[in-house]
Amino acid sequence: MNEIHMPLASRNRARRFPLATAVAVCAAFSVFQLDAGVGPMVMLAAQGSTAPSADVLEVLEVRPNFFMISGAGGNIGVQVGDDGVVVVDAGSAASAPAVVAAIKRITAKPIRYVIDTGPDADHVGGNDVLSKSGDTYFPGTRAAGARPDALRSAASILAAEGVLRHMTAAESAPAGSPGGLPTESFHYARKYLYLNGEAIEVLSQPAAHTDSDAFAFFRRSDVVVAGDVIDTRRFPVIDVERGGSIDGEIAALNRLGELAVPSVPIVSREAGTIVIPGHGRLCDQFDVIEYRDMVTIIRDRVRALIHAGRSLEQVKAANPTQGYAGRYGNDREWTTDKFVEAVYRSLGSGANSRNIDGK
Ligand SMILES: [Zn+2]
Repeated sequence: MNEIHMPLASRNRARRFPLATAVAVCAAFSVFQLDAGVGPMVMLAAQGSTAPSADVLEVLEVRPNFFMISGAGGNIGVQVGDDGVVVVDAGSAASAPAVVAAIKRITAKPIRYVIDTGPDADHVGGNDVLSKSGDTYFPGTRAAGARPDALRSAASILAAEGVLRHMTAAESAPAGSPGGLPTESFHYARKYLYLNGEAIEVLSQPAAHTDSDAFAFFRRSDVVVAGDVIDTRRFPVIDVERGGSIDGEIAALNRLGELAVPSVPIVSREAGTIVIPGHGRLCDQFDVIEYRDMVTIIRDRVRALIHAGRSLEQVKAANPTQGYAGRYGNDREWTTDKFVEAVYRSLGSGANSRNIDGK
């Protein structure tokens, strides 16, 4: 179990909010778990490479028409309304049947869109199953998608162009889901939809976690599904091989901080824009800024060491994550050393150039 199962109690809000407020809001969230009937499917999920550690999915109602499903790989956002269901991120392939079951418990409406925030298997692995469990608005108009099963009605899969590119690259194709490729790719900064009574902006974040990340911003619900740009459990994964960079990561976090509005001037209220991270617990603007500051401080330390002529090994030995490694550096897959190396490599010879995030 990760900290997501105690979403607000663990948020260390004592500095900002009276504890009673945090407890009251925690109780206000409606949490329900899948019943035992879904157990076998979730057990199946445990066999996948990105399998959840929990044996249940957790469904959190973050707004009256908006839910977060966790425990199926990356966090999943679910918007529900008269038009049907818009799902942001599909979780891992192995968890997909359980995710479909969880969504059916929320609503009888069909999935209409799956939006991917990035190319990782724990976010796109469920594309195929979720899409096929759904239904497009426009049957018979899917020739452009050129999928082998194009005659079968399925939900559209929307992603930045690079997601399609990475998924079709042999080394990153999620096993067992060749049909889960995006049917609508975009290569510009902002793609928009208007569904279930609200504007949905899909905002490209070039060169952050990878070269093809996107935020999904639900403007009326005031929820941003942010993907792997923010991971409250650990340092952000900078996938340099797939076009990620530390400066692009900081630029993306700055943008996320600008999209989100905190509860001001009445700071005692548990209100404001909700940010669903790629992994970990729900965030507000304060959390995003805090995370951004942490990443920026470490970037600046590494850059200063590069300026001083230090090698990668010397940079690691200088402990540039000091003060943060205890909280963010304890992940087995994405170690502190790997993070520092990714920062070092993505700064590279560009360490003398100005910051692209303008800070
Ligand atoms: Zn992820």
